[in-house]
Amino acid sequence: MALCVAFFFTGCHVAEVPPFFANEDATIDSSDAFTWGDDAWRVTLPSVQATTSSIGWSEAVAFTVPEGTTALQIQLTSPTGHVLQLAELVAPDAAIVPGDWLKFADQPWLYLGGQERVRASAWQAAFLVPNAPQIAVTPGAWRLRTFAFDYDPQTEARQPTATTLDVQIDLLHKPDIAAGTIDLNLCLTGARGITAATAPDHPRVRDALQVVEQAWGPAGIHVGTVRYFDVPAKALSVTHDDGADSQLAALLRLTAGQPPGLPIFLLESVDLQTGSGLVPAAGFTAGLPTPFAMGGPRTGIALALKYDAPDILGVVMAHEIGHCLGLFHVVEAHAQGETAIEDRLPDTAPTPDNLMYYAPDPARLQLTAQQAAVALGGPWVKP
Ligand SMILES: [Zn+2]
Repeated sequence: MALCVAFFFTGCHVAEVPPFFANEDATIDSSDAFTWGDDAWRVTLPSVQATTSSIGWSEAVAFTVPEGTTALQIQLTSPTGHVLQLAELVAPDAAIVPGDWLKFADQPWLYLGGQERVRASAWQAAFLVPNAPQIAVTPGAWRLRTFAFDYDPQTEARQPTATTLDVQIDLLHKPDIAAGTIDLNLCLTGARGITAATAPDHPRVRDALQVVEQAWGPAGIHVGTVRYFDVPAKALSVTHDDGADSQLAALLRLTAGQPPGLPIFLLESVDLQTGSGLVPAAGFTAGLPTPFAMGGPRTGIALALKYDAPDILGVVMAHEIGHCLGLFHVVEAHAQGETAIEDRLPDTAPTPDNLMYYAPDPARLQLTAQQAAVALGGPWVKP
């Protein structure tokens, strides 16, 4: 049993290195100057469209980050299912994602060259900035560019593509935040007979929420409002895949219209689609970080109830919540002799003691101060 999706793809290589190339100046200005009020902590800028050329790159999207902003979450959406990546992100004083990284990358999925770790995904991709403590959110004029490509898992070929996508930016204002709450929307499919009516008092659900509190409470993140929904899932299992008509996308769409809360689906079983076929898993997160978009194709966690050893549901729930809030594995699973991909946080060691180890252990729920700071910063945690 794999505990979790591996958040990068190995073995795919860029067939042709895209040249570093500035498109025509078609800068879109999404700025809407404002000042943070006392009780405002999250603002969504009006979304804009960006168009990529046949080499996959978009024009620049310019936006203004107001004084007092502590983090931002950038959300890219492809209505036609292309894989989306952050090709460039430039703050007034620094290139957080330098515009030439794709030129030198051996794959477009994952940028590990700077402090900010950046990961592509199909249909919708989100990026929490900062996701490492060394990055400052400097107020002023920012710009970003996107990269769109298609990926064929059979041949591992990737092809840059001309398309139009949506760019949306959430700005966050949480100065000196040390604690916050996260609302959870538990979506009950009927698996193991658990329904919205019985879930609040069901021992497995209650125990799982307690493990989440045990893991995240010391990091300052507490479970806020928990809502329970019956959802008419077509099947009691779901596969993590990228298709437009995938079961996963259909499942996640069921939360459209729910009040904002991290959607957590309880199913009988979940599977990961890998190069060697379907692999059963204890759970996965559709998006890292999770876009702040109820009903969106990357918004939600799927957990398997078929593993009924004590604490498994809770530790996997707590671990997947970490991904939703922008945390990567402290070290990715790797074979003997392969290079280990480790997280970028200076105070976070790649040990099994950490909740974000790729195979989390119910007896080991550590989170570091810098992991807590990243997780507290984004749109899902209320100050
Ligand atoms: Zn994981």
